[in-house]
Amino acid sequence: MALFVQKYGGTSVGSVERIEAVADKLQRFREQGHDLVVAVSAMSGETNRLVGLASSIQDAPSLREMDVLLSTGEQVTIALLCMALEKRGIAARSYTGSQVRILTDSSHTKARIQDIDVERIQADIAAGCVVVVAGFQGADAQGNITTLGRGGSDTTGVALAAALKADECQIYTDVDGVYTTDPRVVEGAQRLEKITFEEMLEMASLGSKILQIRSVEFAGKYKVPLRVLSSFEDGPGTLITIEEDDTVEKPVISGIAFNRDEAKLTVLGVPDIPGVASKILGPISRANIEVDMIVQNIAADQTTDFTFTVHRNDYSKAEEILRQVASDLSAREVVGNNKIAKVSIVGVGMRSHAGVATKMFDSLASENINIQMISTSEIKVSVVIAEKYLELAVRGLHSAFELDKVDTVSE
Ligand code: ASP
Ligand code: MG
Repeated sequence: MALFVQKYGGTSVGSVERIEAVADKLQRFREQGHDLVVAVSAMSGETNRLVGLASSIQDAPSLREMDVLLSTGEQVTIALLCMALEKRGIAARSYTGSQVRILTDSSHTKARIQDIDVERIQADIAAGCVVVVAGFQGADAQGNITTLGRGGSDTTGVALAAALKADECQIYTDVDGVYTTDPRVVEGAQRLEKITFEEMLEMASLGSKILQIRSVEFAGKYKVPLRVLSSFEDGPGTLITIEEDDTVEKPVISGIAFNRDEAKLTVLGVPDIPGVASKILGPISRANIEVDMIVQNIAADQTTDFTFTVHRNDYSKAEEILRQVASDLSAREVVGNNKIAKVSIVGVGMRSHAGVATKMFDSLASENINIQMISTSEIKVSVVIAEKYLELAVRGLHSAFELDKVDTVSE
């Protein structure tokens, strides 16, 4: 007997049939004697439909009213799921975020959870009820409805699991786990049995869009065991957990992440004097453009070259800003390229192994792929390459690090 918090995403509750299937699944867990708290998303496409309705009235509606609107999607699902459970003779109660009292700050459309009042939920569990909570929403101290940012139901699930000290937070979605890389790119991609929070954060922020990043941070902070699994088929999924210093030999690399939506900009011939980096990047960040990798070359002839990457959508805006900055700084030239991609190898095993980066560079060299930029962290090595070589690079790296041989024996 365990207490599970389960989260079902939009496709898992995308139709009445799917909601009935979730109820069947919950019934099986109940029959095994488990206590259940369930967080659900809106039916797939619903949140987008609501966003569309709002923008057909106003270009920039008030964020407070956006939250009132967007929170309705999940309210539909909790009621329908409870009806499906009651039809099966299972006691169930639905709650919106503000009813449970998921207290958040007041940043509408990207609120953060501050506290959850678990008393009511615990009383319902003790009374034998399945508690179904609307994901993605809460209320601030004044009672205004807030939402947690797109994909925020994952964070609701994790926060509930942390507050209730659940045995596991299980995120049911349309994929059966976290893979060594995107199976659409590498046929031999393998489901990972386990991955650490840190690795998952790198994989998620690098473009493996399975979980809202904030939910992984939250789970890591409160040490909530988090499992990603499919609501469409049975299987153990992938457990996201803390790093164990067990004696079992772990793979050096857990996965390969990539991101196509990148662009790079270079200012050539910038005077090599203090304050230049801040003069270049200041206007970029004031324009709300996020900068990812940054490289500054060693100076020759008192000038240097300064390169950074941005999201491809921000490319033209960043270039325009940079031309102005370059002329103010009397730099030589601005050049850019929006046909680039970033590929990263991720793994906590890197901490204890030498030569990982070299192995990556060897693999790219053997495919004749030119590396344009490199950046590293303790558990990651990223390179920027021409977008057209992305698939080739990922496939080569996947076999160089023997990821097709990852052991995925199920429990
Ligand atoms: N329904 C919200 C969205 O589509 C929240 C979620 O599904 O996690 O972003
Ligand atoms: Mg999601």
